[in-house]
Amino acid sequence: MAKYVYFFGGKKAEGGEQLRNLLGGKGAGLAEMVNLGIPVPPGFTITTEVCTLFYQQGMKLPEGLKEEVLENLKRVEELMGMRFGDPKNPLLLSIRSGARASMPGMMDTVLNLGLNEETVKGLAELTGNEWFAWDCRRRFVAMYGDVVLGLKPESKEEEDPFERIIDAKKKARGIKLDTEFTVDDLKDLVSAFKSLIKEKLNVGFPEDPLQQLWGAIGAVFQSWNNARAEAYRRLNNIPSSWGTAVNVQCMVFGNIGQDSGTGVAFTRNPSTGENVFYGEYLLNAQGEDVVAGTRTPLPINKAQKTDHSVASLEEEMPEVYRQLLEIRSILERRFKDMQDVEFTIQRGKLWMLQTRTGKRTSFAEFKAAVDMVREGLIDKEEALMRVSPDGLNQILRPIFDPKEINKAVKVAKGLNAGPGAATGKVVYNAEDAESWAARGEKVILVRAETSPEDIRGMNAAQGILTSRGGMTSHAALVARQMGKVCVAGCGELDINYRTKTIKIKGMTIKEGDYISINGSTGEVFAGEVKTIPSEVLRVLIDRTLKPEESQIYQDFDSLMKWADEARRLGVRTNADQPDQARVALAFGAEGIGLCRTEHMFFEGTRIDAVREMIVAEDPEGRKKALAKVQPMQKGDFVGLFKAMNGLPATIRTLDPPLHEFLPHGEKELRDLADKMGIAYERLAATVAGLQEANPMLGLRGCRLGILYPEITEMQARAVFEAACEVKKSGIDVKPEIMIPLVGDVNELKLQKDVVDRVASEVFASCGMSVDYKVGTMIEIPRAALTADAIATVAEFFSFGTNDLTQTTFGMSRDDAGKILRLYVERDVLEYDPFQRLDEVGVGKLMKTGVELGRKARPKLKVGICGEHGGEPHSVKFCHKLGLDYVSCSPYRVTVARLAAAQAAIEEKRGKKEAD
Ligand code: PEP
Ligand code: MG
Repeated sequence: MAKYVYFFGGKKAEGGEQLRNLLGGKGAGLAEMVNLGIPVPPGFTITTEVCTLFYQQGMKLPEGLKEEVLENLKRVEELMGMRFGDPKNPLLLSIRSGARASMPGMMDTVLNLGLNEETVKGLAELTGNEWFAWDCRRRFVAMYGDVVLGLKPESKEEEDPFERIIDAKKKARGIKLDTEFTVDDLKDLVSAFKSLIKEKLNVGFPEDPLQQLWGAIGAVFQSWNNARAEAYRRLNNIPSSWGTAVNVQCMVFGNIGQDSGTGVAFTRNPSTGENVFYGEYLLNAQGEDVVAGTRTPLPINKAQKTDHSVASLEEEMPEVYRQLLEIRSILERRFKDMQDVEFTIQRGKLWMLQTRTGKRTSFAEFKAAVDMVREGLIDKEEALMRVSPDGLNQILRPIFDPKEINKAVKVAKGLNAGPGAATGKVVYNAEDAESWAARGEKVILVRAETSPEDIRGMNAAQGILTSRGGMTSHAALVARQMGKVCVAGCGELDINYRTKTIKIKGMTIKEGDYISINGSTGEVFAGEVKTIPSEVLRVLIDRTLKPEESQIYQDFDSLMKWADEARRLGVRTNADQPDQARVALAFGAEGIGLCRTEHMFFEGTRIDAVREMIVAEDPEGRKKALAKVQPMQKGDFVGLFKAMNGLPATIRTLDPPLHEFLPHGEKELRDLADKMGIAYERLAATVAGLQEANPMLGLRGCRLGILYPEITEMQARAVFEAACEVKKSGIDVKPEIMIPLVGDVNELKLQKDVVDRVASEVFASCGMSVDYKVGTMIEIPRAALTADAIATVAEFFSFGTNDLTQTTFGMSRDDAGKILRLYVERDVLEYDPFQRLDEVGVGKLMKTGVELGRKARPKLKVGICGEHGGEPHSVKFCHKLGLDYVSCSPYRVTVARLAAAQAAIEEKRGKKEAD
């Protein structure tokens, strides 16, 4: 029979990290800690397989589970010397979820289970604290009533029914705080809760501890499919088939006096990644008090203190702190990664309740990965695998402009929960954040505290600001994971949801007013504050900071060097101008993969000459106009070749339809006709003749150059003259001329003939020659399908996956957005294929293209220059296809370098596994 339950406790656990899929993250972590000799309250884990069976069998627990649970419960009782349900010496249990991937706060938990009218007395005696026992009891009844029995508010506006009773009691007694209740008050609350349950649900509150246990186990399994958990899974790509495990564990109490407490800690700073122990604690409190953000916790050590009037745990309980430090290093050595731990101190004894890979900012992820290589904990490849390519972007994130910030009005300071600088309009709830963002507004979501219901709104906001909660509150954790700027626990803010205002220092901030937050320092500013580039950008691009002055830059540089050692795929950039090329080179681009020459046509006054070329009635007229454009184009290419300093540059001949260069409104056309000295009617007829409807697949790409070879000729001449000039000045040049939108080899042949002819003419007149290549874009399906024929002429291919996606899907790239959003929402497609390459369809064409192309020309160089060239998943796919390079916009070059390295490492690891 299958084993459903795994025990942990004492000195040995049945499971461990290797059983993570079965035990969930929490269960595996607890077992692993037990095996490492770390003190953990004993308990057992019911596997994720049971969750799957539970759903398969119509919400029923499988046969045989009961016996296993009872056996393991006995082992817990023996270890603790207590009995479940014993009126004199009652063992109490916590029942918690624990999926394979962490889903903070999304599922349900029941604490203090096993308390009834009898055992509560035993607990009072054991702890010598009747008040405490009844406080546990009333918390348990409310929690069980909510989570297991399902007594929840009936609508969003309604308050929690148990909270309502508590508030009424406080009013009647004229008190404000829970701690002011007497034992009798607490007893009254329990009776009132039970009556409410009876009245609303028509069931009695279960007093039998075992009945409580089965109820709670079933409820935790059911919470795997609650709306919050489902939303979270969708957002984080966690399959629903994984299921959750249930951990049943002996309760330990942090709230039985000043010699007890609870806390959470990270083995490194989760915001900055710095190698320092980082955490928060509260004396005389339960775990939920720290994470729920209802009391602002205190710093764990002296180093973290900003307020000298509070005492850190290091000062309050030096021995416990010393043990925690030791556990910190045991855990990091075992897991070789930053851990996030929860602990409870019961009467001076430390118990660890959880360890898991710590959620951290991308910034911290990157910093810790680089540091851990230097500390010898992990190797370079592991470090590269840990940093998410998109997360690397965070290091390139803006900070506030120091000049602006001096003028800005600082209104408050909270905790620096998610780094970076953000500015936006204030909204007060998640729904508004979503709808305002959908209409293009930048918003900051301001809440007293956030809950799992807010995640979509948080996702839509630029940043999140809360008035309650610590570094491990929901807002802080989730914001960090999303890579959002976040300031948490900013207690000075007086937030009023009803009037939609924040009152602070005599000032009122209304909905829609600008606010700016610095998630690296915790500062909050009224108004809009301009942002400026990150330190890395300041070193690399603006050159306003020296490399040796920036540790972040140095770490970044190390990681990127490791990436370059690991990757096989080249990384080029899409750049049309020398300044863009320089930015890309600073980010490590190895050439230009796409220069869209049409972008040069709009520069300065040259558009006039371009328009003259378009309305010319014969080749002679066109040539005359083109002669004006040519020197300007040549100048562009000189600049580009110089900037590239010997690196290859792929220059594409003109691609877009000509009407893009002409105005369309009548007034604009009349003005232009006047300016050009031609009749309005004639110009209007030209425009009408050139007009194309979406998706503009008419007179585009090579078709344009075939109809008007003069254009290709001019561009080729400009390229080669520039190439000769730059080469003469001592700088190497590697031009690659690329013909767009080819579907048949004969189209390419016609254009290549023009280019080759012009090349020999220019070389003859300059008395020198330059090595060059002529290739093509593969961006319509027919090109991919006939790539063998095309490769007999093309010396290189570059996949134009923007057009290839458009033509493969038969979906216009300019207005597919609306339908694609719907498709993704309804699971028609997993993602937007214009953002992330559609491997199944478009990818198949690419694979065909590469195979056929290389069959005809084994050394054929193949790249990609569609937007997908900078999207990490797509970059990895390109690696698998055996492409030579990807080309992407300058700011995505580092992301592509890292993704390319990861693709190579994954391949190597896959091979090792297969051996
Ligand atoms: C493409 O189609 O993928 C491409 C790079 O060209 P453009 O976006 O200019 O059409
Ligand atoms: Mg294209």
